[in-house]
Amino acid sequence: MALVVQKYGGTSVGTVEKIKSVARRVAKTKDAGNDVVVVISAMAGETDRLISLAKEITEMPDEREMDMLLSSGERVSSALLAITLKAMDYPARSFTGRQAGFITDGVHTKARIKKIEAQQVRDALARGEIAVVAGFQGVDELSHDVTTLGRGGSDTTAVALAAALQADVCEIYTDVEGVYTADPRIVPHARKLDRVCFEEMMEMASAGAKVLQVRSVEMGMKYGIPIHVRSTFTDKEGTMVVPFSEEMEAVLVSGVTHDKNQAKITVMGVPDRPGIAKALFTPIADAAINVDMIIQNVSQDGLTDISFTVARTDLPKAIEVMKEVVPTLGAKGFTTNADIAKVSIVGVGMRSHPGVAAKMFETLANEGINILMISTSEIKVSCVIEDKYTELAVRALHDAFIGERGSSGKGEEG
Ligand code: ADP
Ligand code: ASP
Ligand code: MG
Repeated sequence: MALVVQKYGGTSVGTVEKIKSVARRVAKTKDAGNDVVVVISAMAGETDRLISLAKEITEMPDEREMDMLLSSGERVSSALLAITLKAMDYPARSFTGRQAGFITDGVHTKARIKKIEAQQVRDALARGEIAVVAGFQGVDELSHDVTTLGRGGSDTTAVALAAALQADVCEIYTDVEGVYTADPRIVPHARKLDRVCFEEMMEMASAGAKVLQVRSVEMGMKYGIPIHVRSTFTDKEGTMVVPFSEEMEAVLVSGVTHDKNQAKITVMGVPDRPGIAKALFTPIADAAINVDMIIQNVSQDGLTDISFTVARTDLPKAIEVMKEVVPTLGAKGFTTNADIAKVSIVGVGMRSHPGVAAKMFETLANEGINILMISTSEIKVSCVIEDKYTELAVRALHDAFIGERGSSGKGEEG
């Protein structure tokens, strides 16, 4: 007997029929003698629908109220799943994030989990019930306001709960059969990975492979929770996210990812003196806006330009901050560009192979794609490009590094 945490994404619970089929899968796991905790997302499209309702009212809806609004989606689906299980004569009980004990910080719309007081879930399991937990939500430890964990946050609910309950495995059920060498919607011949290590998965997730939220991977790595990403609609084995092992380095590039949720801000004519970066980026950080890449140009006559990228969804908030800050810097002004995207290649094999970045630049150049910004880590190279070239870039990079038929890329020289 094992303790299994299963998370079902939005498309898996998009209709009542699909909720019934999820219930049957959950029941099967229970019948096999396991304790089962289910974490559930909002029904497909629901979170987007709620966001657009609020945006019909104002471009920048109040974030506390957004969390009240968005958390309702998971509340609906968790109750519907518990109703279905009970109608099938399986003891079940649904829990909101607060009831499941998710205590977070107070950063609305992208809160971080501080601790999990999962006693009510443990009690339910002890009574032989299936616990159905609303994903993506918690409660601020200070104000007791409802918080949400950022888009894709139900993944993090699941892995965090698996860690808190010391579950044997965390299964992430979704609409693809696992983690692929690229988004299978863009590269139809992308190959499913049987295994991927936490480090690679973390880089892939942070570079846009939305199949797992990056924080869920961080959590899995920190607490040693094996994550099994697999399909809701088949019984096939999916992808295991596991600790790094030496033979993984034989593959140069494991994945090509893209992220269209990107925007660039350029501050022009900034006085090039100590303290300027602090004066610019502290208010951005205080507004809970994550900055990804930063480039500062060579200065001329004591003035320079600084460009940086933020999530496109944070751009309206960033613009408000910039309107306040830019005049205080003595800068000439700022521009924004929301028509950009980031494409990345990720692989632990890069550690031991120089020349990978050069091959990436060459591949993009051969397609006539201009690179606007570059950043690298030990196991990742990212380029910012115009977003209209995203699909072309991903396909070209996949062909160059992984192979047109999705071969392993083993032994390739960079
Ligand atoms: P869920 O609703 O189950 O949480 P998501 O839409 O958040 O599902 O994530 C699954 C989607 O992630 C897939 O449908 C796929 O289009 C996309 N995706 C992007 N990159 C990858 C990748 N490398 N491997 C698998 N899926 C990916
Ligand atoms: N419903 C939320 C979203 O769409 C959380 C999730 O599905 O993981 O982002
Ligand atoms: Mg998701």
